[in-house]
Amino acid sequence: MKKAERKKLAEKIASEIGEVKRLIAVQEEAANLLSKEGSGRRFGLKEMIKARATNEGELRAAKVRSNKLERASKKIDDPDFGICFICEQAIPVARLMEMPETTRCIKCEGE
Ligand SMILES: [Zn+2]
Repeated sequence: MKKAERKKLAEKIASEIGEVKRLIAVQEEAANLLSKEGSGRRFGLKEMIKARATNEGELRAAKVRSNKLERASKKIDDPDFGICFICEQAIPVARLMEMPETTRCIKCEGE
């Protein structure tokens, strides 16, 4: 990977971390509201359960992504950054720009 590409990726990761942190804050706020909101008033019990499950799922996914992005940002200067951990080939930069937290190439991801 070229130096300029690495720099661009580092910026991308930093901005993605900012975004995912904002998303976590929004979902945590929603979780807070949902826990205060009892059933039977604005929502029925079923809707309430569904809303909570969706919220929990999104929060969990955002936290997982945040961890992966943090890991990627720490690893970006490592010589093996951007190398697929299964086939050990370089992951195309376009794919890394799309998904900087990935540790697999498209081929290995599909297997
Ligand atoms: Zn691979």
